[in-house]
Amino acid sequence: MRWLRHSSSRGACHASSSLLASTRLMASELCRLNQTFPNLLSCAPPLLLGEHDVSLRLERAIKFDYGVADRLSPLVRRVIANNPGPFTYTGTGTYIIGRGHVAVVDPGPADEAHINALVVAINGETVSHVLVTHTHMDHSPGCKLLKTYCDAPTYGFGPHGGDLAESSKVEEGADRDFVPDVRVAHGDVLTGDGWSVECVHTPGHTSNHMCFCLSDERALFTGDHVMGWSTSVISPPDGNMGDYMRSLALLLERDDAVYYPTHGPPVWRPRAHIEAFIEHRLARERQIRDCLQRGVTRIVDMVPIMYKGTDRALFPAAARSVLAAVELMHARGEIRANGAPSIESELELWYPSREQRR
Ligand SMILES: [Zn+2]
Repeated sequence: MRWLRHSSSRGACHASSSLLASTRLMASELCRLNQTFPNLLSCAPPLLLGEHDVSLRLERAIKFDYGVADRLSPLVRRVIANNPGPFTYTGTGTYIIGRGHVAVVDPGPADEAHINALVVAINGETVSHVLVTHTHMDHSPGCKLLKTYCDAPTYGFGPHGGDLAESSKVEEGADRDFVPDVRVAHGDVLTGDGWSVECVHTPGHTSNHMCFCLSDERALFTGDHVMGWSTSVISPPDGNMGDYMRSLALLLERDDAVYYPTHGPPVWRPRAHIEAFIEHRLARERQIRDCLQRGVTRIVDMVPIMYKGTDRALFPAAARSVLAAVELMHARGEIRANGAPSIESELELWYPSREQRR
């Protein structure tokens, strides 16, 4: 069956909440998911608080068959795993770079059917590199299965960072078993047979998130850092809004022609997309300031206002991203809390005097 999702709409969308486990869903179930989470999969109208428009133009059109390799460019193919869900959209897209001697980007979940499909797609070819953008369960566990077919080394920034006990409640969960065979750093270049890849460290979604740029096509594999179908979940403590904003700004300095996210279709207007994402996060900050000025002092009470129109099941995940924004504003000295900010803590705007600013 050929899958075709075609929609492009404005809405305050947010991939979030592991309240719904990401399970395999057939077409009818995807439709049900779409009905259950209309704000997630088809986008709600813009959410407004005061004058702050947090809407985004998202691109969601994607045509594919599960388990079938699609050629996206002379050097890039993609196989999508059958793991659709609130975080993964239609599923994890595993990319194949090159011809003959290839690199694989994000083998995906521990799904034998997906790895088998990948192996069929590269039948007769040799895998020389396995690149991992980060260590969420829908990205890196497939490395182990792929190792049974090829002994190519894995490349990544490092094992999962920090304590994700809290954030794992609303994310796909962390793959704590994965350790890359080769640790790569920002600026490293990996060279294969007929292609080369530059490593671009982009912490924020996770601290170990790495994008990979296929220099031959100016194509950046953006993992979960930048996606066309949704914003990224930034869930403290491993997720960090300050890092995320810096990593967005970093991409503005580059000259990439296209992004290939792990979920959803390619992003063909990278600069406009990044600028919109930055503005979206700044609008969220303005919403938080508005809430505090109106006496709404706890994140748990801000979320229903900021995410009005969104399914309440997604509020816990939304609260994680609001917490990430509050942490950044707290670090800048704009918000005060009794101790470190949390979902439940009382917050207040802080207007330091001229003397205190010194
Ligand atoms: Zn992720």
